[in-house]
Amino acid sequence: MATEIAKASPATVNGDDVGALYDVVRALPSHAVIELFSIGVCTRCILRLFGVRESVHYRSPLSPSTLSSVFSDSTDLDNHSSLREPVVCRLCLGILQFTYCEDKDKKVVRKESADGLAGYISDLIREQGFEIDGFSLEVSIPPVILENERIVWDHMKTKYESEHWFQERSLPECISAKDALKISLTETLETKLDCKSSIGTFRIRLTYTYPISSKTVENSVEGCHGSKRRKTGTHNGLDTRGDDIKRSGFSTSEAGSLQAIELSKCLKLRLEQTNEPCCLEFLCYRTQIYFGGRYLKYSRNVSQSCWIIDDERMGEASVEEIMGSNILPICRGDKYKFHAAGREDIDVRMLGSGRPFLVEVQNARYVPSQESVKDLQTKINNLQNKLVGVKNLKLVGSQSWDLMREGEAEKQKQYTALVWTSRILKDEDLQSISSIKDMCILQRTPIRVLHRRSPLEREKIIHWMRIERIVGSSQYFLLHLCTQAGTYIKEFVHGDLGRTQPSFGSILGTRAEILRLDVTDVKMDCFLTE
Ligand SMILES: [Zn+2]
Repeated sequence: MATEIAKASPATVNGDDVGALYDVVRALPSHAVIELFSIGVCTRCILRLFGVRESVHYRSPLSPSTLSSVFSDSTDLDNHSSLREPVVCRLCLGILQFTYCEDKDKKVVRKESADGLAGYISDLIREQGFEIDGFSLEVSIPPVILENERIVWDHMKTKYESEHWFQERSLPECISAKDALKISLTETLETKLDCKSSIGTFRIRLTYTYPISSKTVENSVEGCHGSKRRKTGTHNGLDTRGDDIKRSGFSTSEAGSLQAIELSKCLKLRLEQTNEPCCLEFLCYRTQIYFGGRYLKYSRNVSQSCWIIDDERMGEASVEEIMGSNILPICRGDKYKFHAAGREDIDVRMLGSGRPFLVEVQNARYVPSQESVKDLQTKINNLQNKLVGVKNLKLVGSQSWDLMREGEAEKQKQYTALVWTSRILKDEDLQSISSIKDMCILQRTPIRVLHRRSPLEREKIIHWMRIERIVGSSQYFLLHLCTQAGTYIKEFVHGDLGRTQPSFGSILGTRAEILRLDVTDVKMDCFLTE
C-alpha cells in the first residue's frame, strides 16, 4: 500500500480531484451504489467496499449532495434528492466521515474532510510539545464495524450474486475501515507534520469505540443467522470461504429467497440501531528511547540506584539520579528508568572502562541529536561534585537492552582491593598468589546480605590475582584480581567466617581484611566504543 500512496498526487484537494472522484463513482455499478446509499452507507465506505485504493478519492471533501450530482443523469434513480450522504454512516459509524463523539464530553464533532481531522491531530501534537521526524498512525476500530461490514456484504451478495461485476469480488478484497482511514489521513498528515509516515518511535493512536458491546452485536448477528437456519433447516450456501460466511451465503432457490428477505429485514433492524458516531480517543506518544553508555563512580558515598531506607537517604547521591536528572530534561520525557549491567556496593568505586548502563526515557517530546548527546556527556563529566562520570554516551536502539543483559552473566570483572594481613607477606607469598589461575571457590551467601538473599552455595572462578606492595608498608597491600561476575570480593578476601572456601586469607594462612575496593574493569563489549 505504501507504494500506492507514494504514487498518488500530493495531499491537496482541488476541483480536479472532486471530478476524479465523480468519475470513479460513476464507473461503479450505479444500482448497487444507490442501494448502498439508500441503506445509509457513506461514499467512502462505498469506495472501500469496491476496493478503491487511491488516497485522493478518500481525501476529497464531500457535500451531502455529492452523490446526487454524480447520478444526476442516472436512469436507476427515481428521486435524486433522496441520495444524500448519510449524517452518520450506518457502516463505519462516522469514522470515514471524520465525525466522532469526543471522548471527554461526548460532544459530536464533524470535520469537513481528512484535512480537517489531520489539522486537528497535528495541532494536538504541537500543543503537547512533540518534535518529530516521522510518525506511525495506529487505528483501532470497534468490532461492531466488522460485523456491519459482514451484514452489508451479505446483503450485497444476496442481491447481486448473479451479476457479473459481483462475481469477481469478495469481502477480503474490500479495504477495511481502518486502512481506509489511514489512506485518508496519511498523506495529509505527512504534509502538515512535514515528515514521513514510518515505523519510528513516535505514534499517533486513534482509538474508536462504540457503546454497544461486541456481545450484543454477536447476539444480534447470530440471531439473524439462527432464524434463517430454523426456517430452512439446511445449509445451501454457495460460498466456500469459511463457516461464518458460508452460513450467510444464499442460493437462488426459493428457500434462499426467503433467507434473503429475512436477512434484509435483519439488516435494516441491525443498521437502524446505529445512528450515533463512534467515540474517538486521541493519543500521541513516543515509545521508549534509550541512552546507553558506561558510567564511572568516583565516590564511596554514592549508590548505584536511589537508595532510601525508612525515609533516610543512603549516600549523598546515586548514579541513577545523576544520569536521569541530566538526560530527562533535554528530551522532555515523562519519566526515566535506569538499568545497569550488575552493580557495585555504595562504598566501591567504579573505575577503568566503566560499567554499561541504559537510561530508558518514556514519552520523550524530543529526541536529541548524537551531537547534543555528546554535549550532555561533557556536561555530566564536568559536574562540580565529580561524583560520577560517563563514557560513550549515545542514543541506542532497544536491542541494546538484550546486548547488555546477554554479556552480564558470563562477564569477567577486575578489581583492586586495599588489603591488610595479620602477618607480613614474603616474596614467596606474592609468587604463590600470582601462580593461581582459574581457581574454583565456593561461596555461601554472605552474612551481610543474608537478610535479602536466599541462602545458597555458589561456585565462582578467580581467574588470576596479583599482589602489589605499598612502599613503606609491610602489612598493607594492593590486591589486583580478576573474577567471574557475581563473586563476592570482600568475602573472598576475609573468608566470611569460613563461608567462602578457599579465601585469600586461608590460602596464605593469615587473617586478611579488605579496607577499600575499586572495580577497575567490567569486561563487556557493550558500549565500549563511541
Ligand atoms: Zn462509512
